[in-house]
Amino acid sequence: MPISEETLQASVLGRAIDEASNETVRAVLKSTCAKSDEAHKEAESRLVAVITDAKDEPGAAKTPVPRYAVCVNCEKEFDVTTNTKKSCRYHPRKCEPTGEELWDDNYDEFEVDTEEMRQDFPHCFTFGCCDGNLEDNPEGCVNDFHEEPHSNEKPAKRARAC
Ligand SMILES: [Zn+2]
Ligand SMILES: [Zn+2]
Repeated sequence: MPISEETLQASVLGRAIDEASNETVRAVLKSTCAKSDEAHKEAESRLVAVITDAKDEPGAAKTPVPRYAVCVNCEKEFDVTTNTKKSCRYHPRKCEPTGEELWDDNYDEFEVDTEEMRQDFPHCFTFGCCDGNLEDNPEGCVNDFHEEPHSNEKPAKRARAC
């Protein structure tokens, strides 16, 4: 008997899913898919997209691909079926510690380019691509497609949810 997502969330199982590590939940999902046809189909419909060759003709080659990926530029998860030239906002160049205050206040520190310094002195870290700093413009100065790991190509082909 299926139960509602609310009921599941309120149960011990719901809490267990929230508290287990990603690795454990992935392992459970994989073995659930291997054991149950229904779970397999459901997971596939949610997690796999289909890429159709440029022209959407009948008989065009269809390739199944993972639907979600983490963008190498903005480091956010995105859906390949809704990825457009405006989806991603990022800085193409790294941010460097440049603010004088950073050096003045931390002259005895060995390392100033740390996560903690970035949080404490965001205005002292500027991006090489623009004049933006971590305080004024942490998001980015250009818009583009989200980029998948291990791919230098822009998505020329169109991906769709199954
Ligand atoms: Zn920039
Ligand atoms: Zn992105």
